[in-house]
Amino acid sequence: MAETKQFKAESKRLLDMMINSIYTHKEIFLREIISNASDAMDKLYFKSLTDDSVGMNRSDFFIKIDVDKDENSLTIRDNGIGMTKDELENNLGTIANSGSFSFKNDENNSAEDVDIIGQFGVGFYSAFMVAKEVQVKTKAFGSDQAYLWKSEGVDGYTIEECDKDGVGTEVKIFLKDDTDDEEYSEFLMQWKIKSLVKKYSDYIHYPIKFDMEHDHLKEGTGVDDVPAEYETTVETETLNSMTPLWRKNKNEITEEEYNNFYKEKYYDYADPLKSIHVKTEGTATYDGLLFIPANAPMDFYSKNYEKGLQLYSSGVLIMDKCADLIPDHFCFVRGLVDSQDLSLNISREMLQHDRQLKLIAKSLEKTIKNELKKMLNNEREKYEQFWKAFGMQIKFGVYNGYGANKELLKDLLMFHSSAEKKLCTLDEYVSRMKDEQKYIYYAAAETVDKADTLPQTEIVKDKGYEILYLTESVDEFAIKVLESYSDKQFKSVSDADLDLDSPEEKEEFKKLSEESKDMLDEIAKALSGKVKSAKLSERLKSHPVCLTNEGQISLEMEKTFAQMPGDQNVRAEKVLEINPNHEIFGVLKSLYDTDKEKLGDYSKILYTQALLIEGMPIDNPLEFSNLVCSLMTEKK
Ligand code: ADP
Repeated sequence: MAETKQFKAESKRLLDMMINSIYTHKEIFLREIISNASDAMDKLYFKSLTDDSVGMNRSDFFIKIDVDKDENSLTIRDNGIGMTKDELENNLGTIANSGSFSFKNDENNSAEDVDIIGQFGVGFYSAFMVAKEVQVKTKAFGSDQAYLWKSEGVDGYTIEECDKDGVGTEVKIFLKDDTDDEEYSEFLMQWKIKSLVKKYSDYIHYPIKFDMEHDHLKEGTGVDDVPAEYETTVETETLNSMTPLWRKNKNEITEEEYNNFYKEKYYDYADPLKSIHVKTEGTATYDGLLFIPANAPMDFYSKNYEKGLQLYSSGVLIMDKCADLIPDHFCFVRGLVDSQDLSLNISREMLQHDRQLKLIAKSLEKTIKNELKKMLNNEREKYEQFWKAFGMQIKFGVYNGYGANKELLKDLLMFHSSAEKKLCTLDEYVSRMKDEQKYIYYAAAETVDKADTLPQTEIVKDKGYEILYLTESVDEFAIKVLESYSDKQFKSVSDADLDLDSPEEKEEFKKLSEESKDMLDEIAKALSGKVKSAKLSERLKSHPVCLTNEGQISLEMEKTFAQMPGDQNVRAEKVLEINPNHEIFGVLKSLYDTDKEKLGDYSKILYTQALLIEGMPIDNPLEFSNLVCSLMTEKK
């Protein structure tokens, strides 16, 4: 007897779940085992291209499914690369090695988790949803010894030496006994096996063979007076069409087939938002199958995320993640490209410079842009879901490379706006602009609500102009790079010159500003090092003060820079604006004449208030608190 080994802890828990799975699609186990077999054959096939000792042609590879009704078992056999003893141990002893598995760490897995697991590529372990015992017999390429791995589930597994002809792997599944709810023996029925292969594994590019039994009327029986007698003949059939999904005609493919293909291949549990099937001929001849996921993968906005499409040359996979096929701004797109224009033996280094590949990439970029635009126009809700998941990437796309792609991407942008507090496109904004309105106005803050209550927005709203609310740090950078849309320039509500008043109003304001100049200088002096200047405000209506900026760096941008690693000390040139129509203006004026020291204190309080409104950190909380307190206790 071979020694029984324990599964690694997390594998054990998963196994437990598989065995006790309430998941209704237990049938996916077959798809998982078949796709492992196909991967193993891919590996050996790849090897055969450079290693003559493999001695196999592409057409030699196949999968064979056999049933044994007496022992209630189902065997899936391949002549792929096989596994060494160590590989058996590592691959089937611990789940951590399974590339396809990421899994929540909670002890109590809910029905929902089980559902997710059922739809994921859970791999080999899914066999335990239907098996009371699994045996894996395997011989690795280049090895003389075969091994037999056996497990009845959570209690562990054994590995022993065994005999096996030829390289490859046989997975033998001893089915659980039928229960009132579950008819496991169904998986021994040939119609069932055939339909499962068709449903999940049709495009597998190696033949999946099965010995089909056919009942025939025995010759000479069932005619005239001779009673009918039947005989059974067995014929080995290939169950799958082997035509990859992307090679089929679009009108032969259902939405569900696209969705299943996507989920299976890219380990997502949700249907894609959009499946895009491209077939082009001309400058770039290729079939492409692209998917826009519904949700951003966990690692999407991290360095770990790797973009890229699978690259096939006439149906044969030549690269798993070809990054050059997809631009950064569309890096969320998953899928594959199959082209006959590419040579099978092309190296990665050469691929980068391949003219054909560049043409395909250009064509893909255009296709994706058009599909997104179509979604925006025709399926607004879907597009907004897309925008929530990947909008940030598009905005980075506008900003990156000094705006090299802004023309391509600008129509895809969406921002919240003051009009309906809904997302709107720049085109929609412009179409709603008032006749006399010169600019596209925007306000930047952490949230829509904060932006909406910024004092700076009051006067713009008063004019009846819509304001875009920029709530993500990349937004303002993107807008700055964009400069204008449809010949309308962007203008921040905090911009030094809002350019809203009539010539008469401007004249009057200028006069008042000149009269107050000395006082404003005094205030700026009290705030030296904090603000560049103090001035009267044209934009404030009911609020006493606000902060604006001169120059290119806005207050929101300063916040963003402050959050970046290694403080680069990028600061906005701040301007304290005071509302001449507010009572405080009169108070400040009289203090200027009577008590300059107090004017200084008031200036500090007002400045700090303005910082608070902007959601910026205040320089000296203690000083502020003391100043306010002494004001509150002041004897009249
Ligand atoms: P995944 O296929 O997602 O990596 P699995 O749990 O299905 O996870 O399989 C784990 C590993 O076991 C595979 O990555 C592969 O290395 C190995 N394996 C499984 N089935 C076979 C097979 N039929 N032939 C060779 N290796 C296999």
